[in-house]
Amino acid sequence: MTSYPGPRDLPPGSPDAPGTPGVSGASGSGRGALNLALLRDRNDAAVLRAVRSAAENGTSRVELANRTGLTAQAISKITARLLAEGLLTEAGRERVAGQTGKPRTLLRLVPQARVALGAELGRHELRLIQVDLTGAVTAQTRTPIDPDGEPGPVLDRLAAQVRELTARHGADRVLGLGLACPGPLDTRDGILHQVTGMPRWHGLPLRDAVQARTDLPVLVEKNTTAAVLSRLGPENRAFVYLGDGVGAGLVLGGRVQRGARTNAGEFGHQCLDPAGPRCACGARGCLEAICLAALRAGRTAEAATALALGVTNLVRLLDVEEITLGGPTLLADPTPYETAIRTELATRLPDPAWQPVTLTRATPLAIPQGAAALALGRLFD
Ligand SMILES: [Zn+2]
Repeated sequence: MTSYPGPRDLPPGSPDAPGTPGVSGASGSGRGALNLALLRDRNDAAVLRAVRSAAENGTSRVELANRTGLTAQAISKITARLLAEGLLTEAGRERVAGQTGKPRTLLRLVPQARVALGAELGRHELRLIQVDLTGAVTAQTRTPIDPDGEPGPVLDRLAAQVRELTARHGADRVLGLGLACPGPLDTRDGILHQVTGMPRWHGLPLRDAVQARTDLPVLVEKNTTAAVLSRLGPENRAFVYLGDGVGAGLVLGGRVQRGARTNAGEFGHQCLDPAGPRCACGARGCLEAICLAALRAGRTAEAATALALGVTNLVRLLDVEEITLGGPTLLADPTPYETAIRTELATRLPDPAWQPVTLTRATPLAIPQGAAALALGRLFD
């Protein structure tokens, strides 16, 4: 099951983020009309969320009123609108045990009614996926990238692939594009800052550049933050990435954490050894530098131990209860990393039995799926 970010989890500055209403179907002029439209969207979203999380065979209007706290009259109006828009469909009837009267009509989500796109911009590859309303992947493409090359041609290619994937859907059926990329970046203005290993991308206004090329609402997010939002999990959890770099995405108290400049989770640049190897960030002995140097020398066990120390620091600092491990390097050979992390947690936590940490493996598409979930949030949050 896939979980989706809540309203406050949308990247700040995104079209639907709180305080920046804009393109979510608001109509009419003036503050009053805007507020009414926003309220309508919010109630529609609450109903859509309730339908999405209901049993597969559907849910009744009575149940929807109970789950959302909206009146029967409001539910009747909203479901009529969502049926007319093709987002919901009637899916048979159910008779409730012990109740007389006519059986209740069941409503179900129409997964293919809208699509959302999610892209992962990596240092060597661009991945683009299309998902339906349930978050299921319905199409995907992969394109190699030259990290030393100019961004323009890569973005042109991304726009061409977006057009290709969405050509058979009307423009109004495409919710938007979530774009996950390596940090550091500022998700508020969608600008990249000194991305390790991609010198020509520094200072690029990525969101605006992609929006101009695709005519879609674009939500930019750090790759690890997108990944931690790609699935349901406990309220305090982290996603840890090992690929061309090392990073983490954080959910604490049920809320995604981005920090003051939307740059939390630069986990790979914690210093493990002030006299260690020089890192691409300029500092010495960063976890990322130690891991990548060990991997280049073929010393996987050493890389695994460094990552495990970082993960143990993370658990001690933030008391997370679940760590999802992802990234191409780690997923290609997960066992040494999982073993090292279990060993370090068992030996370095003061009471590991009282503070258990679950380790899970991410799917290879966790990052683009998390990015697509941000675009789906335009409808559900
Ligand atoms: Zn560093």
